[in-house]
Amino acid sequence: MRKLPALSDFITAAKGVGPKKAGLFQKLHIRTLRDALLTYPRDYEDRTKITPISGVTAEDKYCVRAVVGTAPAFRRIRRGLDLTKLTVFDETGTLNITYFNNKYAAATLREGQEYLFCGRVTGTGRARTMVSPAADPVPASGESPGRIVPIYPLSSGISQRDMLHVTEAALAAVAGDWPDPLPQLLRAKYRLIDSADALAAIHRPKTQQDVEDARRRMIFEELFLLCCGLQQLKERRRADNGIPFEADGLRAFLSVLPFAPTGAQRRAIDEIAADCASGRPMNRLLQGDVGSGKTLVAAALCALAAANGYQAAFMAPTEILAAQHAETLVKMLAPLNITVTLLTGSMGAAQKRQALSRIESGQAQVVIGTHALIQQSVTFHRLGAVVADEQHRFGVAQRAALAAKGQTPHTLVMSATPIPRTLALIMYGDLDVSVLDELPPGRTPIETYAVGEHMRARITKFIDKQIAAGGQAYVVCPLVEEGETNLKSAEQHARDLQKALPHRRVAVLHGRMKNADKDQTMRDFAAGAYDILVATTVIEVGVDVPNANLMVVEDADRFGLSQLHQLRGRVGRGTRQSYCVFFGADKGQPARERLKILCQTADGFEIARSDLALRGPGDFFGRRQHGLPALHVADLAGDLTLMQHAREEAEALLAEDPALAAYPLLRDRVEHMFAASEDEAFN
Ligand code: ADP
Ligand code: MG
Repeated sequence: MRKLPALSDFITAAKGVGPKKAGLFQKLHIRTLRDALLTYPRDYEDRTKITPISGVTAEDKYCVRAVVGTAPAFRRIRRGLDLTKLTVFDETGTLNITYFNNKYAAATLREGQEYLFCGRVTGTGRARTMVSPAADPVPASGESPGRIVPIYPLSSGISQRDMLHVTEAALAAVAGDWPDPLPQLLRAKYRLIDSADALAAIHRPKTQQDVEDARRRMIFEELFLLCCGLQQLKERRRADNGIPFEADGLRAFLSVLPFAPTGAQRRAIDEIAADCASGRPMNRLLQGDVGSGKTLVAAALCALAAANGYQAAFMAPTEILAAQHAETLVKMLAPLNITVTLLTGSMGAAQKRQALSRIESGQAQVVIGTHALIQQSVTFHRLGAVVADEQHRFGVAQRAALAAKGQTPHTLVMSATPIPRTLALIMYGDLDVSVLDELPPGRTPIETYAVGEHMRARITKFIDKQIAAGGQAYVVCPLVEEGETNLKSAEQHARDLQKALPHRRVAVLHGRMKNADKDQTMRDFAAGAYDILVATTVIEVGVDVPNANLMVVEDADRFGLSQLHQLRGRVGRGTRQSYCVFFGADKGQPARERLKILCQTADGFEIARSDLALRGPGDFFGRRQHGLPALHVADLAGDLTLMQHAREEAEALLAEDPALAAYPLLRDRVEHMFAASEDEAFN
């Protein structure tokens, strides 16, 4: 007897997959049957709903159950274009069917035989034509052949049929090799289906309900594993010894500040000081809306470390941000005679050598830099505190790598993405959280407008007017993915704007530019060398250009509300009245409603809650910016209660059995999830 394939087998074990095809599959990150198993359909086509031909009235997708009336007629229109035509009928009417360049599909259809045809219909009345439908014969029993067809993500050279083959082989392998990692009690309590059944249902559902049940089960599992892992991480750290910092060092810092900290900043600083005094290492997230003053709180931690005789490292996601932070911190800390050193990848060799030696000798008390800080060549004399700005750009593993340069230093990660509490508890399960829910005084609110295409000319004039008055403008375009033709790329848009405003200096910034070029363009814009910066969302993260007072977002309906709120936060940083204009209000009622929320409130947390309610947590999990392990299904989660349950149950289980000793399979799966994430973070 032939041995059954195992999940660890290469996909060449599947029917019709040779070495060449296996190579193409690599683009989809599918090497083994296990990879195939964990590549879920991105959508499903419901072919269980059958429409009588008389009911085919609109240009839409339909499934009809009909008999072939005229034999397929093949015609060559011209070189490279074949057309096959036939007609089919049921009790209610007749319908034309055409296939282009697919005489083989058409050739299998037999006159007088009944099929289920599913496809898009164009034309009306007698001209109604279904184009290149899928056709499944109706079995002699007369039982309906309708089914839910999985639609997989594809890449060049890989067809849906190929995906069906590899997932078929994977499902066959699952049969004997997929024990359930979830405790039986939990499965019963939340009525979750078995894990092997869930995988079968995800790939080959019979009904919509199958899909729902399977998703619910997989979402629970994934979040449960994630929460277990984060909780364990937290517990493990809690057992470490931390460097006790005396809080006295803060008094001098607070007394030299140019302004009084807000109440929220005070609270956060107190929480940090208490953590650092506790004898346990601090692991805290500082969440605060754009402009809420996170840098000052970070500076307080750096001052505290220095006062206690330790170094602090402050890691920023880009060179320009690192430079900006260094400038700010020098201003705040120089009066206290605390030395601040910058270390970035683009520094000259001599300069870098000097910085490195100052870091090693301890002469540099506060070190600010990019990822360069975690490189091997960087040795700290006595690292006691670590700050990571805009934490979603760093992985859990990168944070750990920086912390490893000291002995359990106190760690503060900062995020400007307001996240509703339910989600924050999951995504930051390994951290304690401080929130800056108050803006410094004296800000003028940003005037925000949601507009449609008919306002185009007026907005262009408005941009011109703001520049004439001495301001600068950002214009943000969404990332255009391959095959999307209805959206303008940043480059194209920059050319158009330059044509409309020939006397203005327009620069463009996008993700494919080299980092050094990006930084240079940003720096030039900040220095006033350009009037308009057209960009993809690479500008999302914290660069301060106080003179910029106008933000225009193209196709704003394509962004999440929280992301739009972040973008808006790029303006309103100076004394000038600032404006924000969102295009896309003419793209239907839901888009208009969503954009309206932004016009009505400037509170990031409120916006995040609306975003969550409107689009589900997918936007928060899906962007892969949080440094968490990759999630396969949780980004499909629509069910907050389920998420909450997963977290509570993980906490309860770990309270009872911190090492998961009674659940070896669960323990392995958690380890596997986090091990994989570390690999990714370093790649
Ligand atoms: P975030 O990083 O949270 O977006 P920043 O730390 O860059 O915000 O602070 C935004 C601006 O607010 C800076 O110009 C900073 O000098 C100013 N600022 C911070 N705290 C205060 C305060 N308590 N009072 C007045 N201005 C403040
Ligand atoms: Mg900031």
